[in-house]
Amino acid sequence: MADELRPLSLKREGDGLKIEWSDGVTTVASWKALRAKCPCATCNEERGKPVDPFRILSPQEVAAGAPAPVAMTPVGYYAYQIKWNDGHDTGIYPLTLLRELGERSA
Ligand SMILES: [Zn+2]
Repeated sequence: MADELRPLSLKREGDGLKIEWSDGVTTVASWKALRAKCPCATCNEERGKPVDPFRILSPQEVAAGAPAPVAMTPVGYYAYQIKWNDGHDTGIYPLTLLRELGERSA
């Protein structure tokens, strides 16, 4: 791929991440959607399990409230690691996923 899609800018906007892409498209991905789609092995496994209707939130989850990032670190050129307010930090989000989860905004 000669012309890799890359972000020109990333910023926090409201309860989401706004990205301006090199192809002129701007997307906004909510933190909630990003957290729900965490690509790490643990979360993938969790999502594969049947939903437990009696699942009770862990004290950590209750304390954290709405998902929000506390840090976002570039990993190489094509991914970002997001550290969340619930302490979870093993998710590395490839740019393609950030783009996919983002909704286009005008
Ligand atoms: Zn995860």
